[in-house]
Amino acid sequence: MKINRNDDCWCGSGKKYKKCHADFDEKYDSLKRQGFLMPPKKIIKNEEQIEGIRRSAKINNSVLDLVSEKIKEGMSTEEIDKIVYDYTVSQGAIPAPLNYGGFPKSVCTSINEEVCHGIPDESIILRDGDIINVDVSTIKDGYYSDASRIFIIGNASEEAKRLVEVSRECLQKGIEAVKPWGFLGDIGAAVQEHAEKNGYSVVRDFGGHGVGVEFHEDPFVAHVGDRGEGMVLVPGMTFTIEPMINQGDYGVFVDEDNDWTAITEDGSLSSQWEHTILVTEDGIEIIAY
Ligand SMILES: [Zn+2]
Repeated sequence: MKINRNDDCWCGSGKKYKKCHADFDEKYDSLKRQGFLMPPKKIIKNEEQIEGIRRSAKINNSVLDLVSEKIKEGMSTEEIDKIVYDYTVSQGAIPAPLNYGGFPKSVCTSINEEVCHGIPDESIILRDGDIINVDVSTIKDGYYSDASRIFIIGNASEEAKRLVEVSRECLQKGIEAVKPWGFLGDIGAAVQEHAEKNGYSVVRDFGGHGVGVEFHEDPFVAHVGDRGEGMVLVPGMTFTIEPMINQGDYGVFVDEDNDWTAITEDGSLSSQWEHTILVTEDGIEIIAY
């Protein structure tokens, strides 16, 4: 179906097509004809949607700041859950994990060899030397944001601190690899290269994801890959980058008791940081961190 240059743009901006996505489509269609894998149009956000995601992220960022102030040795992960729930709700927002696919809590808390999707519990107490990932996702006025940070409790081992540091660098490398009209594979390649250079491995079974209008949208963002491969990244895409970096092998299994928590197969430590980013005309914007 041909869209007229004076029609409303397909993105829902309310602007005339010629003043909105006409130039974009020329580039998009040309790449598509050349056989590149292009993102579905429905995951390309307009300005109104981006504003909504920013508002959601503002709360999400504040939640993580609050956790960062309060987290300490001797605290249970249930207390972290309460901090997240109470603050989120006080801002007129909803913790996205709560009841998502049956997830029972408002936040994921994953300690040491736990890779992701740890479930807060009053019996899980933070100990000196633990590393804990706190993964926060927020829904505000229907818009989603998602970020996680890892916290070192007390005095962690040098090995644990180095893993945390390198995993942070992996996220940074992944973000730096994002270019408008670049490739999804550029992200995975950059992360994998940095992790493996440091003697670590990258989890394959979980990855980043599109986010914004839904909790989990296309694309799946692998943290391993090859440059110049995979989906083309275009302005208006919003997705997470969240490499899970293991000290040992990349194999993980899901805890049979709760069907959620992913744990390293070899029992080695795992560390993760996550941001939500927006691809812009000339680069990227980090929305949730
Ligand atoms: Zn448009």
